Amino acid sequence: MSIEADPRIVTPAHLCKRIPKGCEPGIRYGRLIVVAFIGMAPRSRAYASFQCDCGGTHTCLLASVRCGKTTSCGCFNRESTTRRQFKHGYAIHGKRPSEYVTWQHMIKRCGNPNTKQYADYGGRGITVCERWKTSFENFLADMGVKPSPTHSIDRFPNNDGNYEPGNCRWATRAEQCLNRRNNRLISHNNETLPLTVWSDRMGIKREVIADRLNRGWSVFDALTTPLNTAAKLRQLSKLNDG
Ligand SMILES: [Zn+2]
Repeated sequence: MSIEADPRIVTPAHLCKRIPKGCEPGIRYGRLIVVAFIGMAPRSRAYASFQCDCGGTHTCLLASVRCGKTTSCGCFNRESTTRRQFKHGYAIHGKRPSEYVTWQHMIKRCGNPNTKQYADYGGRGITVCERWKTSFENFLADMGVKPSPTHSIDRFPNNDGNYEPGNCRWATRAEQCLNRRNNRLISHNNETLPLTVWSDRMGIKREVIADRLNRGWSVFDALTTPLNTAAKLRQLSKLNDG
């Protein structure tokens, strides 16, 4: 909008006899510095354009900056809002960084039973380490920024492990699929294949193999022990434990 077309101005600057006091270029009000007197609004109120310290510009009534109602181009309020939203202080231009959203969701799905995903995370005993739970800065320092917007957090190498340094990485969806619980990669006989493939090949249910591995069986035993024998062994071990 050109200055002349601004409906707030009834008398443009070039038709005014003098620059009103306080509208001289270079005068500072908060973050704003007067660039030019623009003209008069109704009831003899002066309008001016300002340069803000942040690099932005602003046009408003001189009275508004003189009384301190306006102290910036709007960046000050945006920053305050940001500070309220991010008590941990990390934000770029008031936008939620995607790492922050990741951090928030990670804590929620591990700690809040009301979230949809809780069953797959907190409900499975997966936790967020204290260092990360208490500080977004720590989380960011350990993880770094996402390589791209399509990357998300992945528990790796141990998909059953917790969210903690050393067991997390930024990964693409494709990379994560390979690390899914049901797609766990298992090396046996010089082949590394997803658990589901081994399951089909050996004729043993995926859940059974996973359960065996989780209980500390060797890969060889987990993949090659027929079910019946396994059931017997389980009973035996129970007897022994008892
Ligand atoms: Zn500004």
